Amino acid sequence: MKEFELINHYFKGRGITRRDVAVGIGDDCAVVEIPENCQLAVTTDTLVEGVHFFPDIPARALGHRVLAVNLSDLAAMGAEPTWISIGLTLPDVNMAWLEEFTEGLHEIAEYYNVQLIGGDTTQGPLTITICAKGIVPKGKALTRSGANVGDWIYITGPVGDAALAIESRKRGIALSEDQTKRVVEKLHYPKPHVAAGQVLRGLATSCIDISDGLLADLQHIVERSMVGADIDVDKVPVSDDLRAVKDQALIDMLSLSYGDDYQLLFTVNDNNRSAVEARLMQYGVEATCIGQITNTVGEIELYKNGEKYSIPEQAGYEHFN
Ligand code: ADP
Ligand code: MG
Repeated sequence: MKEFELINHYFKGRGITRRDVAVGIGDDCAVVEIPENCQLAVTTDTLVEGVHFFPDIPARALGHRVLAVNLSDLAAMGAEPTWISIGLTLPDVNMAWLEEFTEGLHEIAEYYNVQLIGGDTTQGPLTITICAKGIVPKGKALTRSGANVGDWIYITGPVGDAALAIESRKRGIALSEDQTKRVVEKLHYPKPHVAAGQVLRGLATSCIDISDGLLADLQHIVERSMVGADIDVDKVPVSDDLRAVKDQALIDMLSLSYGDDYQLLFTVNDNNRSAVEARLMQYGVEATCIGQITNTVGEIELYKNGEKYSIPEQAGYEHFN
């Protein structure tokens, strides 16, 4: 199968069509309409075999995951996802693999009403890059820099399950078959908080998606907002599967220093707390307050049972380390 046949078979004319796409796949560029009084939000994320996923990940999961992680970035800015392009580097043309991969990709794209508008296809070690675009009302994007002293710190759901899936495999943590199935599902099929991100527009003072670890990502908010943070470790939501691990140091590491669940971490002024909780609940998102913004610029303090607490230094995931 040649490059153009591959593009035509697996990408062109598959998935949804949006009315705001003037020119889609097949020309030198795609052309799209941006609504008046809106701004374009753009993000790119790459998944490399052996770095971001195990080589035996099901192709369908990979198609889902690569888009999910990009949509999570749009969600963190309060943007509505609209269009994506894909850079696909394949070692060879494996039709069964491509069928599954594109099924996973088109399925999540359709769910979030996102149209694939272009890409690039090359040969080489398996690497997938997505550039996702979204729209956001002018001046209303959520950023990392708006947190104020006294704001409450929230998280959209439990953290650590995807990490448990990875680490149980790497270091052989004993899990039952059911537990393994549940945590691997979380790793393979993360659900980006797209609706929550848009709900938080105008209500949250800052927002970030947890991709590198709760503490590492909170550190970005703290630094960009020039504030500090107190976190009550007991309040950080974890699943029964993670709690069952029993080793507290390991639970702390997986829930605080790993980020593959793609929850949103955000800050809210005291006046907006109940509004935020209620609005998110309408979308089935149970946000948990895990701490408060302080004036200890650049510092995050951890507490457990009201006492200061510390965990071993964990910088979050770093390439080139
Ligand atoms: P060019 O040489 O002008 O960059 P290409 O030959 O790379 O164009 O691609 C032809 C068309 O197919 C373009 O519209 C491009 O966006 C699209 N395309 C290429 N690869 C993919 C892909 N994997 N998925 C979707 N569209 C793709
Ligand atoms: Mg060209």
